[in-house]
Amino acid sequence: MKGDAQFHKLGLRRGFDFILHLPLRYEDETVLGTPENAVPGEPLQLEARVQRAAIAFRPRRQLVVHAEGLVLRFYNFYGSQLKQFQRAAELGRRVRAFGELRGGWFGAEMVHPRYRIVDEGEPLPETLTPIYPSTAGLPQRELRERILKALDAEPLGDTLPEALRKRHGLAAFAESVQLLHRPRPGSDLGAAWQRLKFDEVLAQQLSMQFARRDRQSRRAPKLPGDGPLLKAFFERLPFKLTKSQQRAGGEVLKDLTQPHPMQRLLQGDVGSGKTVVAAIACLAAVDAGWQAAVMAPTEILSEQHYRKFSEWLAPLGLKIGWLRGGMRKKEKLDAAQAPIVIGTHALIEKDVEFKRLGLAVIDEQHRFGVEQRLKLGRKRARVQPHQLMMSATPIPRTLEMSAYGDLDLSSITELPPGRRPVATRLFSETKRGEVLQRVRAACGEGQQAYWVCPVIEESREGVQTAVETYERLRSELSGLRVGLLHGRLPPDEKAAVMQAFVAGKTQLLVCTTVIEVGVDVPNASLMVIESAERFGLAQLHQLRGRIGRGARESVCILLYGELTETARDRLKVVFGSTDGFAIAEADLRIRGPGEFLGARQSGKLALRYADVFDLALISRAREAASAMPEQDAKAHVERWYGSKRDLLDA
Ligand code: ADP
Ligand code: MG
Repeated sequence: MKGDAQFHKLGLRRGFDFILHLPLRYEDETVLGTPENAVPGEPLQLEARVQRAAIAFRPRRQLVVHAEGLVLRFYNFYGSQLKQFQRAAELGRRVRAFGELRGGWFGAEMVHPRYRIVDEGEPLPETLTPIYPSTAGLPQRELRERILKALDAEPLGDTLPEALRKRHGLAAFAESVQLLHRPRPGSDLGAAWQRLKFDEVLAQQLSMQFARRDRQSRRAPKLPGDGPLLKAFFERLPFKLTKSQQRAGGEVLKDLTQPHPMQRLLQGDVGSGKTVVAAIACLAAVDAGWQAAVMAPTEILSEQHYRKFSEWLAPLGLKIGWLRGGMRKKEKLDAAQAPIVIGTHALIEKDVEFKRLGLAVIDEQHRFGVEQRLKLGRKRARVQPHQLMMSATPIPRTLEMSAYGDLDLSSITELPPGRRPVATRLFSETKRGEVLQRVRAACGEGQQAYWVCPVIEESREGVQTAVETYERLRSELSGLRVGLLHGRLPPDEKAAVMQAFVAGKTQLLVCTTVIEVGVDVPNASLMVIESAERFGLAQLHQLRGRIGRGARESVCILLYGELTETARDRLKVVFGSTDGFAIAEADLRIRGPGEFLGARQSGKLALRYADVFDLALISRAREAASAMPEQDAKAHVERWYGSKRDLLDA
């Protein structure tokens, strides 16, 4: 049972997990080659009688096996391997080695080949040898054995009804998996792969469907959205909602009138004004006698929401609770009594109880794990709160249909009027002096600026960078009032630094990516991003969204150090576009869906075989999903995911 932990690491538990663990590639051990017909760079299989085996020490310790016309070298080897070869030599047995052949001191040799000791005339396998994704210390052989065992043990009947299979021109499941795990040389695997990819997307679509249906069967408070607070709010709002804010607000309010929990994702570029839509939803809850909670990923952002909500809602006589990390239990309990409660993860700590939570808003949802979102949503089990998630990273169409298919989506597609797009400039590190000039000039005119340091994680090292940059800039820009903000500062200090910047007391804020999400200081019109090549594209776009919030023309300077070709191409995307959608799409292509999905990358939802960009495949699977009979649909999801669907029951 020693290997089981390693199998678990690969997500392999049930028989079907093994069956659905498909090969990366194959090696052809069905034929024997000869050194003469070896093709450079291509592995081949040779067989030769073992003559002697010994440890050599030059140029470094290694096991050298001499067979007729062939030398095998193993730099990492066990004593048992030496014995195995010595014994083979005594008995005149043969070695079958698979690997790349190269010319060596003694003629043809292989380094670290895969090998087997055989007797003369032992038959060759009839099928190709699959190579599976594996993990350290788990030999392919063990993996292969378990997979073949599962293939024999599990019933491989089709979950797709014949008619659906025909309509989509798909191969049978049993034949497809059998073929993929043990193809004969020269087999065409195209149809088999098609079938498995289809099945994978189908399973994803079906579980989304189940999650939706499950949601329809749960109860949530009806929030009519026609109460006095909401009316008063609209009357007092200092600006007119944009068309898409109105549309999104309408969609949210309509969901809230339903007796089932809303599960809506509001996406809109940075600065598009999602907060006001959240406030509208909160008021609908409070008007109906329920509480609303707003959860933000950082202390800074939660404070900002607290201020904004207070500014808008205090005049209506509404109390806003603000729940912070460092609070005492009593203070937390008090804050959680307010009709609208704002906070960070502190909201989901176990000693925090809401009396009547009717709505949970989750800002920058991708920053939270699925479980964290669930916790806020599940504080009360019998009647569940509605959920509104918000994200500034737009979701490309294909992901919208696949990984996010269980959610309803609203989009804010325009910025509030009067915004000027941020101009982006690329500057080489060597022109740092010029950049300093610009910072000085801007601050001299009463504007403010950010200087973002290349910290992707809030590591100790990273903080060091910010601290050093801060010291350096203070001397380079002496006379300017400079602040320093990073994730390792105590919450009080963070708040004080941010406050000083909001109030204009500091002119330049040196910071890490803590300011990436949501911070709103309209007077800041210049941003310098150091080592911009080290950031993700969507992240750069997010950062850039912190400026351009006032009426003034804003500039974002991307400072780069050494640029590789790809790094240059990536920066060009951000340089050339202010469209968050296009940037997200490019980011998804460059980084792959894993990182992009953040919390949603939970192994289960990610596609392993199908391409997330394959819109045609996703559409077909979606169509099939809606035509699947209940029984088959259940069996299909069970086959792919097991009986656990908890991650989707959000
Ligand atoms: P985000 O979508 O990035 O969360 P915010 O909700 O923080 O954006 O809004 C950015 C700024 O725009 C805020 O200061 C907000 O008050 C302001 N705002 C939002 N909607 C409008 C509007 N329709 N007209 C003018 N200003 C608006
Ligand atoms: Mg926001």
